[in-house]
Amino acid sequence: MKKDFTPTLLDFGPLEIYLARHFGFCYGVENAIEISFRTIEENPGKRIFLLSEMIHNPQVNDDLRSRGIQFLQDTYGNQLIPFDVLTADDIVIIPAFGTTLQTEKLLNRIGIQTEKFNTTCPFVEKVWNRSEQIAKNNYSVIVHGKPRHEETRATFSHASANAPTVIVNDMKEAQMLAKYITGEKSPDDFYKDFEGQHSEGFDVNINLQRIGVINQTTMLASDTQAIADFLKQTMRTHYELNDSNIEERFADTRDTLCYATYDNQAAVDGMLKTSADVAIVVGGYNSSNTSHLVELCEEKLPTYFINSEEKILSSREILHYDFHKKQEILTSDFLQFNSPVKILISSGASCPDALVEGVIRKLIGYFPVDVSIEKMIEKFS
Ligand code: SF4
Repeated sequence: MKKDFTPTLLDFGPLEIYLARHFGFCYGVENAIEISFRTIEENPGKRIFLLSEMIHNPQVNDDLRSRGIQFLQDTYGNQLIPFDVLTADDIVIIPAFGTTLQTEKLLNRIGIQTEKFNTTCPFVEKVWNRSEQIAKNNYSVIVHGKPRHEETRATFSHASANAPTVIVNDMKEAQMLAKYITGEKSPDDFYKDFEGQHSEGFDVNINLQRIGVINQTTMLASDTQAIADFLKQTMRTHYELNDSNIEERFADTRDTLCYATYDNQAAVDGMLKTSADVAIVVGGYNSSNTSHLVELCEEKLPTYFINSEEKILSSREILHYDFHKKQEILTSDFLQFNSPVKILISSGASCPDALVEGVIRKLIGYFPVDVSIEKMIEKFS
């Protein structure tokens, strides 16, 4: 069925809010949160650890911490609590991103039953299965993802167990990889260019002759498509192939983005067809899928990436995250437009809806609105 991606208009009179048709929590995140809270409830008195952040949302992670859960690693895999304090009696929850085979083995050696408290999203497991299929057919695996992101590290580990694997972060790195495919760059430089991003024993002369592409589930759909198309074309030209025999060198697979990434990005595209003054995107600053929604909005209009309504300091000032520079910046007069002010709103897959509601409540507080939020909720109930 064709999905409807037109935004929902919340017409408050002098303020018009266009809410993306799909936004917020995805299946994987809801499932992970549910398992975590159930684990806390069913295991009083036990020490419960989370391998790393459950999801990239500070409010959810703080909530879990306040219920006694401790985090073993930060979002980049740096150790916060050494593994050697763990005992077989402890519970370790694997987050929605999954984890590396090495970490899983290490925990199992201590006697921890990782499979019992594993919240790895099925859509991430699907990517691992795809990498297995690619490997089975003797292709090397190219992972399009952020090399330091938990999910990409986990996927890299699973893919490397079956096939030579390289991570490319973006088109620039894909273009660099292409130069090793065509022989334009000396193989010796590969290990420096892709340091920490290739599997052990990767042989540039052999392992780039047959490739297949998978990707982190939350990448920007257009980037992922462009990278796969580019690498396919590189193989086609270099080996003088055509549509009928390209599979000799390039695995024919669809991208491995998850449904939530597709729907949230398509809903932002739909929302951007509305002429508006500004966009506000709500989510954790280290959330990959949220930053891609911001990227899409930024191309069209002033966009503010915030992680809660508290970042809206007043009707004049907003403190928002610049994910290119990785810092918060203050912008003044962010609502100075002719009436009605039109605002587009969306949120990432790890953002609770309550945060979006908080943002809407704060915004309407700055306008002499004709309709209360309660009346608006009634209208949609
Ligand atoms: S964003 Fe997609 S892959 Fe990640 S947890 Fe949600 S549904 Fe799963």
